[in-house]
Amino acid sequence: MTIQVLKNEVINKIAAGEVVERASSVVKELVENSLDAGATQITVEINGGGLALIRVTDNGSGILSDEIQLAFERHATSKINSFEDLSLNHSLGFRGEALPSIASVSDVEIISSNVNENSGTYAELENGLVVKKQKQARSQGTTIAVKNLFRNVPARLKFIKSKTTENSHIANVVSQYALAYPEVRFSLFIDGRESLKTPGTGNLIDSINAVYGVEIASNMMPINSSQDFNTDEKGVVISGMVASPKISRSNRNYISLFVNRRWVANRNLVWAVEEAYHGLLMTGKHPVAVINIEVPLSDVDANVHPTKTEVRFKEEGNIYLALQRAVRQSLVNTAPVPRVGEITASYRGQSQLIVPPEQRRMEMKVVNEEEPGTPVVSSLPVLRLLGQSMNSYIVAEGPDGIYIIDQHAAHERIMFEKITKQKEQQGVEVQGLLEPVSIEVLPVQDEILFKNYKYLADFGFTIEPFGNRNYLVRTVPSIMYKKDWQSALNELIDKLSIKNKANITEHIISTIACHSAVRFGQSLSHDEMRELVRQMEQADLPHACPHGRTTMIHITKKQLEKEFGRI
Ligand code: ADP
Ligand code: MG
Repeated sequence: MTIQVLKNEVINKIAAGEVVERASSVVKELVENSLDAGATQITVEINGGGLALIRVTDNGSGILSDEIQLAFERHATSKINSFEDLSLNHSLGFRGEALPSIASVSDVEIISSNVNENSGTYAELENGLVVKKQKQARSQGTTIAVKNLFRNVPARLKFIKSKTTENSHIANVVSQYALAYPEVRFSLFIDGRESLKTPGTGNLIDSINAVYGVEIASNMMPINSSQDFNTDEKGVVISGMVASPKISRSNRNYISLFVNRRWVANRNLVWAVEEAYHGLLMTGKHPVAVINIEVPLSDVDANVHPTKTEVRFKEEGNIYLALQRAVRQSLVNTAPVPRVGEITASYRGQSQLIVPPEQRRMEMKVVNEEEPGTPVVSSLPVLRLLGQSMNSYIVAEGPDGIYIIDQHAAHERIMFEKITKQKEQQGVEVQGLLEPVSIEVLPVQDEILFKNYKYLADFGFTIEPFGNRNYLVRTVPSIMYKKDWQSALNELIDKLSIKNKANITEHIISTIACHSAVRFGQSLSHDEMRELVRQMEQADLPHACPHGRTTMIHITKKQLEKEFGRI
């Protein structure tokens, strides 16, 4: 065979392999084009898993009649002129690849009416070429219908799973853009049935309500990154909402991340969000978050892959830190105590679903002002102790209802914060044992302890090897003195053997906290309970134990009144 330049038709089909992986990729590209055209209303209609029909209608700027064929040419774009423009470019598209790729693997119909023209234009394309074109009335905007997707690419068709799978991918794409652009009214119809509609109010909470429903929406808290975290992260602004830790999901699909409002897939950034929830969610649970990271255009490169879901940062480490801190900050500031069945159908449709944090803190202040000198340090009001139930639960009363506290989980949280603070400040407080205690470890533990015994000194355990699997323990953390520190130490050795050392400090501290805390089923004196409640009031994150279990339940006055039929 001689060398020859491939025909455009072949090139476009090859490129389509990258840009148009499945029906949802078509939806993504068309919706991005509508957003780039400044649309405030975007309707997506899908039939037969997107293979029969994908129709996207917008009220954006429209395409000039004379430029319709051009829009479907390869590398034809109105969004950049030169390579340098890339670093100034705010638009989602810029490669001029989507329309020609789509048109090479489907039949396309387009009706568009440009702002500067009186009438609209209808055109039909086959194999990427306009085969029919005529005037047609239409209000400003563009409708693109993609039919018979992949009919001429049997290899691709074979990989398409069920229509339901394709539909859910498409619904996900539209949902993500609806979350990224709350000011745009999105509608999605699947096989004629409306499956998503956002109001386009510009309030993120309304989009979250439309996409995820009222239960999640009423538990979202704004991220407040107005304070500059670090001068290294100049120009990076993190905004959006994260869910209270009591709302969690068993996969990561509910973490939506956008960079300059471009939906991105970036594992490290997802980790940063999860890190921020560390100690608040149970193992295997993942948070709900909708976050936009605003980065100066010169510090981010979206031109990594034709689909542009991957981005590269100049300083990814800084972005990671800024993101993690912003999320953590908002959890610490605003995490509310979980309430029983607070969500009622009557919330549906209301746009202000959550109490803004300013207001929430105001309420706290009022309570605390009654006790002068009490610093406003927690999201728990001052509580009045009522008693203990089942030797396990402490019952207390607050300004708005009753609190039932899991005594072990709560005490564990208190201990966890105490040791963490000690460690950050003057070091973990230690207590010398009257006599050094000799312990013998299992053969499997010996190597691990031998490697780590010095490290454990940072946590209050002064240990010396004594030969033959024996060790001498001279000091223990003060809070463990007179507690069963031996079983805690055993557990610590096992924790240290885990290969993944991420968050090892937290794991060690939470083990110590767990073994120092009062037990479930332990009878407590009135004074002990008072002290525990007082410490809970001052905890940074009183509502969850370090393992992520709930420490307390709040039954509001209103709920009681409702239960008793008073309102
Ligand atoms: P890109 O988005 O990278 O520029 P596309 O192939 O997706 O490339 O689109 C080519 C051009 O067609 C765009 O640059 C734009 O000028 C025009 N276009 C596509 N879709 C729309 C739309 N919905 N509204 C207005 N113009 C559009
Ligand atoms: Mg495009």
